[in-house]
Amino acid sequence: MNQNYDYDLFVIGAGSGGVRAARFAANYGARVAVAESRYYGGTCVNVGCVPKKLLVYGAHFSEDFETAAAYGWNLGEPRFDWARLIDNKNREIARLNGIYRKLLTGAGVSLFDGHARLCDPHTVEVNGQRHRAANILIATGGWPHKPEVPGAEHAITSNEAFFLNALPRRIVVVGGGYIAVEFASIFHGLGADTTLMYRGDLFLRGFDDSLRTHLREEFERKQLKTHFGTDIAAIDKQADGSLRATLKDGSALETDCVFYATGRRPLLTDLGVENTGVRLDERGYIDVDAHYRTAEPSIFAIGDIIGRVQLTPVALAEGMAVARTLYQPELARPVAYELIPTAVFSLPNIGTVGLSEQQALEAGHRLNIFESRFKPMKLAFADNAERTLMKLVVDADSDRVLGCHMVGPDAGETIQGLAVALKAGATKRMVDDTVGIHPSSAEEFVTMREVTRKVAPEA
Ligand code: FAD
Ligand code: NDP
Repeated sequence: MNQNYDYDLFVIGAGSGGVRAARFAANYGARVAVAESRYYGGTCVNVGCVPKKLLVYGAHFSEDFETAAAYGWNLGEPRFDWARLIDNKNREIARLNGIYRKLLTGAGVSLFDGHARLCDPHTVEVNGQRHRAANILIATGGWPHKPEVPGAEHAITSNEAFFLNALPRRIVVVGGGYIAVEFASIFHGLGADTTLMYRGDLFLRGFDDSLRTHLREEFERKQLKTHFGTDIAAIDKQADGSLRATLKDGSALETDCVFYATGRRPLLTDLGVENTGVRLDERGYIDVDAHYRTAEPSIFAIGDIIGRVQLTPVALAEGMAVARTLYQPELARPVAYELIPTAVFSLPNIGTVGLSEQQALEAGHRLNIFESRFKPMKLAFADNAERTLMKLVVDADSDRVLGCHMVGPDAGETIQGLAVALKAGATKRMVDDTVGIHPSSAEEFVTMREVTRKVAPEA
């Protein structure tokens, strides 16, 4: 350890990646400091994965009450109290903030609450105090981006959605990515008159087409309104406080809230990267090599700020990789970016790992597609027509399973295990030879025997 510096590692940002890197580095014996300007745990804990999933649970109750009636439960008229949900959510997040802080202090990490700025390749300034470090890790994450539309200041993003004073009566969610479909599901489930507006033909670009179509059908069945192939041109605030969104096709929508879920940008505000040799890539994210080292040799960067795969488990893996590279190189291994499983917590959920049918065809595979749609047993006698979709994309020549996709309750829980099988190189034959768990939805993945379609790349 280099005694010419105050710290071996100074981490900027106590989010998913920063906390993981700091804890592991400290456990490996490094002298570590962390600066955090806003909230311990970062986006995921405060305005991302965790509060989002709590709201998704809350939103699903509207359907659960109907199902419960079919199971013989007599309920009064359910009434939803937004303030109570948000209070309870805030209390849980405050508890988690405390846990993240303790995780760091417990590992012997020095904490600085404040905005950190790079002064030179080895110096970070927080609250007017300068700290010298042998290495610096930038883990400052991202920030929601609103398109430059007149009146965009009247619109909210995911940051504000978690703290609204009241559930809007009407809401327009703009975008077609994870956040748009998840929050459209949340607001619809909680009882808001919800419209999901996306500029393209169909949301979730890049996901398997069967998933996208199935989710659209489920949204239509629930009467969650979708508005594709259009976008907002301007937003005007009305005298009564409501909003009027004028669309690019000239039509207009009256609403109480416009929510932009139109992507996130790297958070570089007043970070001082210009005082170092750190370079940005053409998209504006911090450019790093295979070991997360920036163009400035003493400075590393991980997580959303490098714009690879913007998921918490990926930021965690990158954080661990940096800690190992610097302080336990014999344990260091590259983060595997292929076969990253992911879930979209829309209602119903999506879970997916591996190649979509379209990606597999583009990669030149001849394919056997296995697809199954069924009514989940839990809804057997409920007045709910929701269908679960399961799909396997199999290479026809090698029998390797290239992709597993699901839309249905707790899809992420099912897909997590299948991701291990895909990492291990599972063939369809191995899937067939696996005994199912009965009665479950997941067993359908091991009982799909008939090829639904055979497809091949266009010659
Ligand atoms: P962050 O977690 O964003 O942490 C960065 C930290 O740096 C922040 O705490 C910030 O305050 C701090 N900071 C920034 N600048 C400075 C500075 N100059 N000085 C000091 N501190 C600074 N991913 C999933 O895997 N599953 C999900 O279900 C999921 N849901 C999401 C839902 C939403 C609404 C959003 C927005 C994201 C979601 N994500 C989800 C993505 C996930 O939150 C991010 O990929 C993850 O948080 C990235 O971690 P990070 O460490 O790179 O950055
Ligand atoms: P995404 O990048 O996933 O989606 C952004 C969406 O906004 C796209 O549909 C895009 O359209 C659209 N869009 C972009 N710019 C404009 C514009 N100017 N006007 C209209 N539409 C626009 O971003 P999100 O904000 O949804 O989420 C950010 C990231 O956070 C995700 O990519 C994911 O990595 C992570 N996340 C993960 C979750 C999970 O794991 N469950 C949940 C939430 C977030 P187009 O497709 O046409 O480009």
